Amino acid sequence: MEQIHFDHAASTPVDERVLEAMRGWWQENYANPSSRHAAGVAASEALDEARRRVAWATGARPDRVTFTSGATEANNLAVFGSARARMQHGKHVLVGPLEHPSTSVPASALREEGFEVEELRLNSSGALDLEDAEARVRPDTVLVTQMLANNEFGCVFPVRELTRLVRRTAQHAAIHVDAVQALGKVEIDLETLGADSIAISAHKINGPKGAGALVRADDSVIHPLVLGGGQESGLRAGTQDVPAISGLGLAAKLAESEREASVAHMSELTELLSSEIAGRGLGRVIKPGAPGQPLLPNILSFIVDGPPAEVFLHHLDARGVMASAGSACQSNKRSMNPALFAIGLSEEEARRLLRLSIGKRTSRDEVLRGVQVLEEVRDELARHV
Ligand code: PMP
Repeated sequence: MEQIHFDHAASTPVDERVLEAMRGWWQENYANPSSRHAAGVAASEALDEARRRVAWATGARPDRVTFTSGATEANNLAVFGSARARMQHGKHVLVGPLEHPSTSVPASALREEGFEVEELRLNSSGALDLEDAEARVRPDTVLVTQMLANNEFGCVFPVRELTRLVRRTAQHAAIHVDAVQALGKVEIDLETLGADSIAISAHKINGPKGAGALVRADDSVIHPLVLGGGQESGLRAGTQDVPAISGLGLAAKLAESEREASVAHMSELTELLSSEIAGRGLGRVIKPGAPGQPLLPNILSFIVDGPPAEVFLHHLDARGVMASAGSACQSNKRSMNPALFAIGLSEEEARRLLRLSIGKRTSRDEVLRGVQVLEEVRDELARHV
């Protein structure tokens, strides 16, 4: 059965060029990059090249790139590492309203270390409430986290405005930005954003799973979480995964150098998806945020006209269409995501929310076949009510 992948926000296929770049580092040269022999030096140079590529794609200095096992680790490192490094200046932490659990869960865990942790809010149109943020920032705020683009609805947040207002009041705050969904779709420049650190993940940009990076501004201090042999300038001990990191480096380079073309392609297809959904009466497309607020070009959420998303997804899966209801239920938990209520959805609507996310290789034909399957499933389920 042919598969149609409408779940690229969850993961993307590895680009052929990336796979090719990784291949040699498993068997031809499998040296430890810390070894002093020629093969070790070559592996270490491969890490340096990846560092330069990630730095180029994010507007940072190569020596400020720390490789991790993915964005979950990078977010944990930023949250714990930045807060703990600033404790002498205060213990107040602000967390964005729609953060991924790899940021919000460690931030909540800081409470056990005596930190006061508050959440930023969305306003009634679903945009980041900057006035509320301004009122909450304090001189003793030591950490603010705000993702650049959201994995559920694809909203792109005004991080630059947020960092400006934070800096006015909180001299010592570290500002961490989860840029996982944004890389390759939105221009990322650490300095322009005014952030202290950003997290990226290879498998969201056509690279391998299990590789990511924390990219820091020049003067941002952070405490390590994993101690040992002093790799990654002492910030993340452990022998680096050379194949995965070289894959991450090339994936980041390609994501940025092909960004404009990919965005144009994906925007056109998302537009097509949206008009087909409306035209076939499949449901109501949700675009949170203030009018004109930018959205990612590849994510579309809609309230399906039919049974709960879980049921719909099951039938789509059986016909080879992969999609997600991640926004309605947080994977194993039955609890609803409060953000859905913040943007004005009822519980019943939130349960019918489906997320479709396309990739840079998705074709027009796939989109049309995918909506055809959506329509067939909708009709089939309607007959069984
Ligand atoms: N942040 C966001 C916004 C994500 O979408 C994800 C992946 N779902 C992560 C962090 C975690 O990344 P990784 O899978 O590399 O740990």
